[in-house]
Amino acid sequence: MKVCEIFRSIQGESYLAGYPCTFVRLAGCNLACPWCDTKYALSDENASEMSVAEIVMEIRKLGTDLVEVTGGEPLVQEDSIELMHALCDANAKVMLETNGSLDIAPVDPRVIVIMDIKAPSSGHVDTNRWENLDLLQDTDEVKVVIADRADYEWARSTLSEKKVIGALRTSFSPVFGQLDYNVLAEWLKDDQLNVRLGFQLHKIIWGQEARGV
Ligand code: SF4
Repeated sequence: MKVCEIFRSIQGESYLAGYPCTFVRLAGCNLACPWCDTKYALSDENASEMSVAEIVMEIRKLGTDLVEVTGGEPLVQEDSIELMHALCDANAKVMLETNGSLDIAPVDPRVIVIMDIKAPSSGHVDTNRWENLDLLQDTDEVKVVIADRADYEWARSTLSEKKVIGALRTSFSPVFGQLDYNVLAEWLKDDQLNVRLGFQLHKIIWGQEARGV
């Protein structure tokens, strides 16, 4: 597999934010969002080739119970399915961060899926694979990255129409440095939406440019 980095940190974005977590960042992505904060992982230029067994061994050395498979977009590498399965079998609590454009059906049901829904500012709203919504479980989360009011209104109406809000864990996260947390908080408060305000804890703690933290 093409692996960009493996590191120990704290979970930064999901409803499990704050817990110690080991991340395996796979290289490659099928999208190109303008505000992407992991552009270094979009190609395999800086990636190392590792087998599933080698990745599992490396992760075990770091010793956290929680492991997140992220990218890039992990599902562009077919072996990511086998990797998540192997990590679950090794008794890790496994999370998958996925951009929501690829089929999640083959993902091991023990995996916690954090699935993006792409809002208009991403330029990829047409790639949302809505069939994935039917495959999500109570332990999963739908995440929308919000850059502006237009994104917010789109997400509010689309996810209400599709009966996601209230039925599935849902978070709206501002694009870091582009939309203030307090502005998005006011919108959520005014509308009393049953949506979690998403933070990127690692950026608040270590700054926007830090890698491997
Ligand atoms: S889907 Fe994620 S990794 Fe891919 S370009 Fe968009 S933000 Fe970056």
